[in-house]
Amino acid sequence: MSEYKTLNKLQFRVISDRLLEAGFCESPNQNPRPERQVVDLLVIHNISLPPKVFGTPYVKQFFLNQLEVDADPYFSEIESLKVSAHLFIDRKGEVTQFVSFDCRAWHAGVSSFDGRENCNDFSIGIELEGSDDIPFTEEQYQVLVATCNALMDRYPGLVPERIVGHSEVAPGRKTDPGPAFDWEYFRRILQA
Ligand SMILES: [Zn+2]
Repeated sequence: MSEYKTLNKLQFRVISDRLLEAGFCESPNQNPRPERQVVDLLVIHNISLPPKVFGTPYVKQFFLNQLEVDADPYFSEIESLKVSAHLFIDRKGEVTQFVSFDCRAWHAGVSSFDGRENCNDFSIGIELEGSDDIPFTEEQYQVLVATCNALMDRYPGLVPERIVGHSEVAPGRKTDPGPAFDWEYFRRILQA
């Protein structure tokens, strides 16, 4: 069992569209949200670069359009993509913010939720360092929950039922966060 479980419940805070507990590293892959857009959806993803390899600098490089393309053969397939997420939570639970919450990060792509398209307009995207079939770490669950709670405090339209996986807003196209993401456990500790 992780030592993390013995710590007090984490309390995170969002002030001025930043998560205080996150490092900030601004991605160029962002644009303004539509005017007067309410944020009322949170989309959970997973990513690792190269796929299934953890603890590398490449996800951060990718979100900054600075991927060292020679470092892995796979990178030439993705180097021209312009993507980002608001937050990235690594395997140790360390959080990096790439886009302010008031701006639109480029994480969901072609997507819809509850009859509304373009989820990037009204959502916050959180990437967990991981892969669909590899269990996520306890640190990631605890940090994700603290982050979601801080965001729900800041955005009243954001409620537990509006925290979903990328696979739910882009079915048939995306599979993340994947079967290894334990929704039941996540929702249980979110409400605890
Ligand atoms: Zn995704």
